[in-house]
Amino acid sequence: MEIRGKRLRLLIKEEDIRRRVEELAGEISSSFSWDEPPVVVALLKGAFIFASDLVRAFKRPVIVDFMRVSSYGHSTESSGNIRILKDIETDIEGKEVLLVDDILDTGLTMKEIYEFLKMKKPKVLKTCVLLDKKERRRVDFEADFVGFEVPDRFLVGYGLDWGELGRNLRDIYYVED
Ligand code: 5GP
Ligand code: MG
Repeated sequence: MEIRGKRLRLLIKEEDIRRRVEELAGEISSSFSWDEPPVVVALLKGAFIFASDLVRAFKRPVIVDFMRVSSYGHSTESSGNIRILKDIETDIEGKEVLLVDDILDTGLTMKEIYEFLKMKKPKVLKTCVLLDKKERRRVDFEADFVGFEVPDRFLVGYGLDWGELGRNLRDIYYVED
């Protein structure tokens, strides 16, 4: 597999992702009270495929909403100053909320969005990421539910892009140097 002249190496197979997403859904599901439907908030664009598999693995109805954020600045590194391009449309006050992203890297994005959603006064706010690059963390933030710990490599596929390409790949790859 190759994108923009860079070779992609397989890291996590579709079948392993599928199995782990099912497990995560089970763990998350037993953590919800189910008094009323929980709200799943997924971050666009990277989390769209993970979130769609995750919500379909729940056996009871959930509300799905999306946010779109972008980091300021031109660097490929998160600047820690995120801009909200699209807010959720659901009133989450008093609700159980699960914030979902594709990957936790420096932690800046999740930490800022977590604090932003907290201000809307949910009853419970939990977080879930499919991938976690633990060694890259720059702020004190851990997700409640993590699919896989991954090495410090640039990852592509299953929603994650390499210059907007590769989101549709079924497996997760790393870009070879
Ligand atoms: P953080 O704020 O934790 O540094 O960055 C999180 C965001 O950076 C993720 O939502 C994702 O968009 C992007 N990101 C971090 N690492 C990778 C990676 O390896 N591949 C891709 N495609 N995006 C990444
Ligand atoms: Mg992202």
